Amino acid sequence: MNQIERLERLPLRDDLRGQHPYGAPQLDVPILLNVNENTYGVPQDARDAILKAVDDVLAGLNRYPDREFTELRRALAAYLGHGLAAENIWAANGSNEVLQQILQAFGGPGRRVLGFPPTYSMYPLLASGTGTEYVSGARAADFSLTAESAAKQVRELAPNIVFLCSPNNPTGTALGNDVVEAVYEAGSASRTVVIVDEAYAEFAHDGTASAIALLPGRERLIVSRTMSKAFALAGARLGYLAAAPEISDALRLVRLPYHLSAITQATAVAALRNSDSLLANVEQIKIQRDRIVAGLAGMGLQPAPSDSNFVFFGGLEDPQSIWAGLLASGVLIRDVGIAGHLRVTAGTEAETTAFLTQLAVLLGH
Ligand code: PMP
Repeated sequence: MNQIERLERLPLRDDLRGQHPYGAPQLDVPILLNVNENTYGVPQDARDAILKAVDDVLAGLNRYPDREFTELRRALAAYLGHGLAAENIWAANGSNEVLQQILQAFGGPGRRVLGFPPTYSMYPLLASGTGTEYVSGARAADFSLTAESAAKQVRELAPNIVFLCSPNNPTGTALGNDVVEAVYEAGSASRTVVIVDEAYAEFAHDGTASAIALLPGRERLIVSRTMSKAFALAGARLGYLAAAPEISDALRLVRLPYHLSAITQATAVAALRNSDSLLANVEQIKIQRDRIVAGLAGMGLQPAPSDSNFVFFGGLEDPQSIWAGLLASGVLIRDVGIAGHLRVTAGTEAETTAFLTQLAVLLGH
């Protein structure tokens, strides 16, 4: 009996029948460049600090953790700057959970959320999990999204929620704040909640603005971030958002009590105190990202400009065979299902070299 047949035996919700779970392959391969992790391990000084912080809370694990994670919210506000305070911050187990809570509070049956594919593959899954209708907006043929086009679509579709992903996964390209402003304005009549997913913000080129600067006076705007990428803490599961304080009030209605464990809170606070050490490799990753863009262009491929820690590239005749050829040589990258394209995460210098070298061989250069 296969998985689908097994599921058929259960009284599953009709709208979940036939759906596929999030499924980036987790393979045991030497060079993992497929899910946009930070490929550097956690540095020793940060590990020591996290170990001490976790040790300090162990004796109290018989008690539920601080439901308001106040110290963590304060530390996240201080990290973001922009005059934000603890009341502007909310956090959960990864930004996926933050996004899910937003959909639980502002989406749901009879409501719709607009995304602009190709974009983060979890958006439709979060929509279906919360019974929210997912509507696919349109981008230009080169996958760009202008303020005029995005605003027009928001006016026409009047969604309850819009996902703007900047830098966008899988294309790597950031949106200008003019797009965010225009979408927010266009959503005035429909009271649309605008989420700017900035999971990769720390890798942006100098001069790429964060939507955090737009928060004052915009109570329907939410900027989500994560410690999974630049902070090299994907395994710790800590995502967060910055928004008006009433957004947190709304999310308190849907979050599970004590959703952030004492261990998670202690880990994240210790990590933020050691942010210099944890973020030290961001510059090196950006160098490798730019090297990938230049290297791929040199091979006659078409890499998209990237403000993230990954590069989306086109110009491949047979992406599946390139993907398989790289895997056979121990390099796992991502086939995001877009004709002629693949996506690769910028790794360490050695990992990047292995990827570029092997790709050149496969392309016959
Ligand atoms: N948003 C985007 C655009 C992502 O690419 C990812 C992770 N791949 C996430 C959110 C979720 O990350 P996490 O739950 O680890 O914070």
